[in-house]
Amino acid sequence: MTQKTPPRDTKIIVPESQKEGKPGKAVERPAIKDESPSKATRSKAKDVRSSSETSPSSVASSKKSEAPAAQKRVNRPKQDIAPAPAVIAAGETSAEKITSTVPGKRLENEPENKSPSTRIDRVNEKNRNDLVSAEPAETEMPLRDLEKSASTEEPHSAPIADTDMPLIPEPVISERAENVERMPSETSSATPIPEPVPYDSKPLEKSEDLPEPESVSLELEPAPPPIVPAEPEPVAQAQHHVSTTPSMFIVQITPELAPVAKVGGLADVVFGLSNELEIRGNHVEIILPKYDCLRYDHIWGLCETYGDLWVPWYGGAIHCTVYFGFVHGRKCFFIEPHSSDNFFNRGCIYGFNDDVLRFAFFTRAAMEFLWKSGKNPDVIHCHDWQTALVPVFLFEIYKFLGMTHPRVCFTIHNFKHQGVTGAQVLHATGLNRPEYYFHYDRLRDNFNPHALNLMKAGVVYANFVTTVSPRHASEAKDQGQGFGLEPTLHIHHVKYGGVVNGIDYNVWNPEIDHYIPHRYDVDTIEEKYKNKKALRDRLMLADNEKPIVAFVGRLDPQKGLELIRHAIFYTLHRRGQFVLLGSSPDGQINSYFWSLKHQLNDNPDCHIEIGFNEELSHLIYAGADIILVPSQFEPCGLTQLIAMRYGTVPVVREVGGLADTVFDKDYSYKPLHERNGYVFRDYDYSGLESALGRALSCYYDYPEHFRELMKNAMRYDFSWKNPGQDYLNIYDLIREK
Ligand code: ADP
Repeated sequence: MTQKTPPRDTKIIVPESQKEGKPGKAVERPAIKDESPSKATRSKAKDVRSSSETSPSSVASSKKSEAPAAQKRVNRPKQDIAPAPAVIAAGETSAEKITSTVPGKRLENEPENKSPSTRIDRVNEKNRNDLVSAEPAETEMPLRDLEKSASTEEPHSAPIADTDMPLIPEPVISERAENVERMPSETSSATPIPEPVPYDSKPLEKSEDLPEPESVSLELEPAPPPIVPAEPEPVAQAQHHVSTTPSMFIVQITPELAPVAKVGGLADVVFGLSNELEIRGNHVEIILPKYDCLRYDHIWGLCETYGDLWVPWYGGAIHCTVYFGFVHGRKCFFIEPHSSDNFFNRGCIYGFNDDVLRFAFFTRAAMEFLWKSGKNPDVIHCHDWQTALVPVFLFEIYKFLGMTHPRVCFTIHNFKHQGVTGAQVLHATGLNRPEYYFHYDRLRDNFNPHALNLMKAGVVYANFVTTVSPRHASEAKDQGQGFGLEPTLHIHHVKYGGVVNGIDYNVWNPEIDHYIPHRYDVDTIEEKYKNKKALRDRLMLADNEKPIVAFVGRLDPQKGLELIRHAIFYTLHRRGQFVLLGSSPDGQINSYFWSLKHQLNDNPDCHIEIGFNEELSHLIYAGADIILVPSQFEPCGLTQLIAMRYGTVPVVREVGGLADTVFDKDYSYKPLHERNGYVFRDYDYSGLESALGRALSCYYDYPEHFRELMKNAMRYDFSWKNPGQDYLNIYDLIREK
């Protein structure tokens, strides 16, 4: 079998869009007029807002709580260990043991300490059934560099020249990249996609005795289970989706899927892309862990489909049960291991010291399931370091057991978390042979010669590698944002590109959104102000003429925490309101935002909600006027795309996918009708103020222009229509023909 190398002049839109930098297209052309200050226009917009009906929020609330991310192990299931199936017999060598690094921590929530007495406490009380909140262990602000300015509530009224910023350093690591030991192979340009070297002859001999996947005696029906559950929600309509590629069988192997297992954008991507691929006539199946914290209220017809899957692990095997269920029409298989390691019964998805082993196990289990069940997909699409071992298992193990057909697309949603670990993962998963995998051209970390890097493994072994925007693809490869993977991306650049994420228009759509009390589209945009009123009612904000600036997202340093904090005070100072919804797995960060929340507790123009709340996020997108995304780096960013769908004007930093999707009202090279927000470049207070200040001024002084900006944003097509076709082109390029 030969893995295919995409030609340099491939028709894939990826390089095209990289050049063009235009992921979405405005379909109509209303012009933004030249600005001409007029009190009349201002009062007109105010009239529209004040004429809005009062309608309290009725947002549904059934959020399931995330349990604390402490190292608790709960509900330990039975452990079934049996001798390993005769699958792998690669030579075992004792390897050096090194400490694992687990960078993939993301979500942690601590139980709220409720004592409603103040305004915000009353709101918490009101929302306590659907908000997951975290009370800080201590109120001392951990964001030390912010302490000084946090104590002064006065924002900078004028741009700050050389602000001393720096709570969290810029993610520029080019220096580190330059110091990487260079292998001879790096000097050659355009290295072809590697043909994984088969392991030694013993497994090959063994594979001759093994049945082809198709002829494996199965207790499992390859097809979905016999009982088709009632499906309450129809899958999206496909009228405008005309696929230009042949029908394919695609399997997504993923750690997250919205809304059942969502931490961030990865969950939304798998959810939206899978639906788009289906409605274009492909067969799509999704495999994910059966977490105890799945939102089971979004799974229909869950039933056991395969009760006897034995997954090789540390020379033995772990017994697993596989369940099938529909998640809003998506066909999903959930793998449940029965092991004392208790991999997926811990109350949340990430945040444990053995995360690398947990997801290495899941990945091995998913591949074993595909093989045992005789599934023969054209393409396996895996995501982030958690499932980056998929192509390694495929081309180093399962290929020799007869799985010669599938090809692998690997998507990197965030380079920051790479799954850097020790040799243990080789022994655990049955890959063994540390002397082989510790080669620089395979899994060895680019900086630590004693560590393995799972994300690098995915880049090396996959047939195609994508990240989630063309701009970020180039930032990661050439501008020091690859967190050390720059040399690897250069070596494999011919199979690497960026595709801007879409958003699922069945979920994020103000015309049909069940989580907002008033639905609207671009022609009935006045209805948006009723949602603004509902948002204020829900959060007990003052009802006035002020614009609402919002932030929704993980409270991760990546998201620009010190700029978010500064934006809160700056907005209040500029007569605006601010709403923040976010959470962090980092106790110090949570503590800081809790102290900020207490500091602003009685301010009627500010609400800080610490926790994860999908339903509330919909109301914020619909009710806010401006969404803020001041990230240090942002591979794609979904919040600005979602906000634009709801006519909420984005203020973003010019980086990654934000630069590919938001075009400045005053400075963009785009025609006026394609400008949709405000952009700033420098990661400092003055940069932020330059964009947020213009947005607030426009809202107050040129409301008609602001209205046009809102409409321009709504007219963009950020659905999965275009990226769905992009991925199909990639699949078609790499599939075995
Ligand atoms: P990332 O993947 O880096 O977390 P994205 O912007 O790509 O960021 O995706 C974030 C997704 O997660 C969006 O759908 C956003 O609405 C959602 N989200 C993030 N934090 C929260 C929260 N605290 N409550 C509800 N939804 C959230």
